[in-house]
Amino acid sequence: MNSTAFLNIENLCKSFAHRSVVSDFCLAVNQGELVSLLGPSGCGKTTTLRLVGGFLEPDSGEIFLDGIAIQNLLPENRPVCTVFQSYALFPHMTTLENVMYGLRCSGLGFQPSRHKALEMLSTVGLADQASQNVTRLSGGQQQRVALARVLVLNPKVLLLDEPFSNMDANLRVQMRDEVRSLQSRFNLTTIFVTHDREEAMGLSDRIAVMQDGCIVQFGTPREIYTSPVNLYVAECVGHVNKVHIGDRVLAIRPEHVQINKDRGEHNGIVVSVSYLGFITRYLIDYQGDQISVDVISGHSPDLRQGEQVSLSFGSSFPVV
Ligand code: ADP
Ligand code: MG
Repeated sequence: MNSTAFLNIENLCKSFAHRSVVSDFCLAVNQGELVSLLGPSGCGKTTTLRLVGGFLEPDSGEIFLDGIAIQNLLPENRPVCTVFQSYALFPHMTTLENVMYGLRCSGLGFQPSRHKALEMLSTVGLADQASQNVTRLSGGQQQRVALARVLVLNPKVLLLDEPFSNMDANLRVQMRDEVRSLQSRFNLTTIFVTHDREEAMGLSDRIAVMQDGCIVQFGTPREIYTSPVNLYVAECVGHVNKVHIGDRVLAIRPEHVQINKDRGEHNGIVVSVSYLGFITRYLIDYQGDQISVDVISGHSPDLRQGEQVSLSFGSSFPVV
C-alpha cells in the first residue's frame, strides 16, 4: 500500500457469476502521472476502469482519491471522467454543444458554459468546428471532442479505455502525442487502458502489466522491458526468443543476439531476411530454435537465405 499516492486502489475485487475478473487489484498512482494498464483482451482492464469510474460496484476493496474514499460515490459525483472506446458523442449535437453538455448538467449557466467550451475547443485545435455537427468530423477530430468534453469538466482523474482502437496507424501515433501533451499540460492523473505494447511504452510514466485480473508487474517502460519478472511480462512489452542451450532455456530479446558471419563456429542458418527500415530482422535457425535477430540497418551484415552464421547471446531473462 502506498498511502501517499494521489489515487490509491486497494484490494479491488469483482466477480461476474462467481467468476473472478478483478482480484485483489492494488495500484497507487501519483498526481499528474500517466499509468497504463497493459494486458491481452479479457484480462480485466475495462472492468477495473469501470470500477474506478463508478459504473460498476466492487465486491470488495477501496479506492482513495486525494485521501478520500470514493468507491461509494455515484459516477457523476466522482471527480473522475472516462473516455470510452466508442467516444459516445451525442450525434444530434454540434461540436460545441457536445463539449458544453457536461458543464450545463453540472449547473453552470449557458454563457459561462459556452465560453469555457469554446476555450477548450481552441486548446484541442477545433475552434473552427464549433458549430459543425459532430458526425461530420473525422475520427481523429471526434476523439478530440471526446477528450475536450471531459477535460472541460476539470476532473482529478482521467480514465481512457483503448481510445485509439478505431483509428488507423498514423492517426494513432498522432493522437498518442496529442493526449500526452494535453495530459501533461493539465497535469492530469490518468489511467490509460490498452492492449498495444507500443502505445503503452510510448505514452506511460509507468505501466501496470495485467494478467487474470491482477497486476503482475508495475514499473517504468524501461524497467518492464529490461527487467521483466517473468516471460509473460517480457512478451507483453516486446518480442522474446526462447533459446535452448544445453538443458536450459533462455529468453532473449532480438536485439541481444549477435550474428557473426566470419568468426566463431557456425551454429545457425539464415532462414529469412526482412528489411524493416530502421532495423533489419533476421530469422535464424539455431539448432532447431527459430530465433529473431534485430540489427540496426546501417550495421546489418549482408546475409542471404541459407547462409551459415555464428550466433552469440547477450543479456537474457530467466524463463519463469
Ligand atoms: P479487457 O478490457 O481486459 O478486455 P474486460 O474487463 O472487458 O477485459 O473483461 C474481463 C472478463 O470479464 C472477460 O472474460 C469478460 O467476458 C468478463 N465480463 C466483463 N463484463 C462482464 C459482465 N458485465 N458480465 C459478465 N462477464 C463480464
Ligand atoms: Mg476492454
